[in-house]
Amino acid sequence: MFDIALADAVRAEATALLSDLIRIDSSNPPGNEAAVADYLQALAAREGLRSERIPVGEGRDSVALRLPGDGTAAPLLFLAHTDVVPVEADQWTRPAFTAHLEDGYLYGRGALDMKGMLAMELMAVLELRRRGLALRRDIVLLATGDEEAGSAFGAEHVAKVRPDLLQADACINEGGFGYTEVFGVRGPVFGLSHAEKSPLWLRLRTRGVPGHGSVPHGEDAGSRMVHALARIDAWRRPNVVVPENEPLLRFIAERGVLPALEDEALAALAARNPTVNATTSHTVANTTCRFGIKSNVLAATAEATLDCRLLPGETAEHFIADLGAVIDDPAVEVETIFHASSPVSPLDGGLAAAVRDAVHDWNPDAAVVPWITTGFTDSRVPRRLGVPSYGFIPALLEPGELARLHGNDERISLDNLAFGCAMLHGVARRFCGAGA
Ligand SMILES: [Zn+2]
Repeated sequence: MFDIALADAVRAEATALLSDLIRIDSSNPPGNEAAVADYLQALAAREGLRSERIPVGEGRDSVALRLPGDGTAAPLLFLAHTDVVPVEADQWTRPAFTAHLEDGYLYGRGALDMKGMLAMELMAVLELRRRGLALRRDIVLLATGDEEAGSAFGAEHVAKVRPDLLQADACINEGGFGYTEVFGVRGPVFGLSHAEKSPLWLRLRTRGVPGHGSVPHGEDAGSRMVHALARIDAWRRPNVVVPENEPLLRFIAERGVLPALEDEALAALAARNPTVNATTSHTVANTTCRFGIKSNVLAATAEATLDCRLLPGETAEHFIADLGAVIDDPAVEVETIFHASSPVSPLDGGLAAAVRDAVHDWNPDAAVVPWITTGFTDSRVPRRLGVPSYGFIPALLEPGELARLHGNDERISLDNLAFGCAMLHGVARRFCGAGA
């Protein structure tokens, strides 16, 4: 079912498509995702696909493209977000919005996160249509905005006004990648993300006694905040095996990277590998801190933010209570800025099986490993509606490539882009084909 010739056939077209998408600057804020929606609707009209606009206003519209099947089964949802995070242009060595091509790589913001995946999803749908394959279910490609800012103007909005567009048998979205090597295990390994950590963004605030910088007294807001942050920094949370990360940990343990599936071995590996740590514990990152008005004035107020990510099973209330005990200073207030959580999707469903089968059609030795995503994605939205959703971007990344995501010089190799188109096509044929 995996058709390697397809990768060659669609390579040039996928490259042109992704180049067009990268050239539409949809940095969020402000977003401007409606320009992507315009582009997708024009493409749909040329290619004979049905499309529907989901008006959001202020240039933030979402769009759904549909390839109809015979309706004997519920749809497959291809989800993609059309916004990207902003760039620090002076930190890029290649331009971020011109789709710069060099040595077999296409550079640009969104190449991996996730306009590249949007191009793969589009090509998979276009090829199914061109080949006229009988489908037992519709394929709905839902391209939404605002994912990078919490999705209020994107997937969350669609869930409110058009939940029918999210109703599907299963969904594929971002969240997992393929790797040539992962945690010291040689690939190919594909992460199939079935679970996510919950983001909990907190603001700390405190007041203190201002005064002259020449006579420090320790009661000023700056001192208070620094002490609170120091205690948080020194807080050690355990590395644990939970049902959602257990398959991934077992996979690396079986390959000798983790000597045993127990806490001490896990803590030792996590101390050396921040991704293992993030996958096995609640994390806290102190992301901002502000106080003071002048170098010789003790501050009256101080503010800081924390980006906390909780393992499945932990509640915000419980975690905030633990954090409060660590800070141990009633003068430091803790306020929740943002919290979201995602149900976990089952691993025995039809789409998970289709992904495994499509990967093994390509390479029987490739591994497909259930993954827990440390970031959060729009998958929580269909999952809340009971739709099993999987993070699966079928690009085989070399070590170091992921650091470019949300970083500088983000890029995708044309080999990966073409491979991903063929892989998603294979998954869709397995899951949606009339004979499947
Ligand atoms: Zn993304």
